[in-house]
Amino acid sequence: MSEIARGTLYVVATPIGNLDDLTPRARGVLAAVDAIAAEDTRNTAVLLSQFGLRTPLVAVHDHNEGGVAARLVERLRGGEALALVSDAGTPLVSDPGYRLVRAVREAGLPVVPVPGACAAITALSVAGIPSDRFCFEGFLPAKAGARRERLATLAAEPRTLVFYESAHRIEAMLVDAIAAFGTGREAMLGRELTKRFETLLGPTLGAIAAAVAADANQRKGEFVLVVRGSEDDEAAQLAEGRRLYAALSAHLKPSVAAKLAAELSGAPRKALYGGE
Ligand code: SAM
Repeated sequence: MSEIARGTLYVVATPIGNLDDLTPRARGVLAAVDAIAAEDTRNTAVLLSQFGLRTPLVAVHDHNEGGVAARLVERLRGGEALALVSDAGTPLVSDPGYRLVRAVREAGLPVVPVPGACAAITALSVAGIPSDRFCFEGFLPAKAGARRERLATLAAEPRTLVFYESAHRIEAMLVDAIAAFGTGREAMLGRELTKRFETLLGPTLGAIAAAVAADANQRKGEFVLVVRGSEDDEAAQLAEGRRLYAALSAHLKPSVAAKLAAELSGAPRKALYGGE
């Protein structure tokens, strides 16, 4: 059994597929705490039973997190040790938990990370796409219009982009990604990572979309899409210039806003603002 500290919240990563990815430390903490706050108690009960654990569970999800957080802070104050898990991977990463963690930290109580699997990092680690700087974009908006708008704002982003996607939107998402980034943009689609049918597709968005369209099996399961950032400096400067111009023109004369935005971004002033 692990040594655990009283009055402490442990934030514990669980496997994203392969059960062997639960670390010995995570197992020890889950066995030793007084209760585990879980996104879906039925899912976590299955995980615990696979490890022969019977620690009591408390449901914490997006709809009850505010109220439950206050009660869990009281339990911690009373000296109990608690763990927070999500259905899979690292809590708080496209998963509930940040309100609870914030409440515990604001109460001045210790929060201890117990790291492990995370689908975004797992995909990045096998993509072979520059990973020194990356943007985690999580799930795109479900509605097509909003999704396309979000992708358009990312078209000139120079950092590598990481997206989560579910089976029922993967095809539409790839079509929209191609419209925003171009068919030749380098990318990797990680499907069912660490599981039996793990697949890595690439090397471009066009090739990935073709492989997914050609084989219904490639549309099943869970997905992480890693997209190389834009290598087009001019496009990146223009996007940054437009962003700055939009922000500055709310406070300054348009001509002054355009001059400043051009200086700061390197984009040509005329491309930001037509007037004198
Ligand atoms: N907290 C989790 C983490 O640390 O990665 C993510 C939770 S989010 C609700 C679930 C999404 O993560 C899935 O829709 C998928 O995009 C991605 N994901 C989770 N497990 C995966 C896997 N084994 N293979 C590929 N993607 C996965």
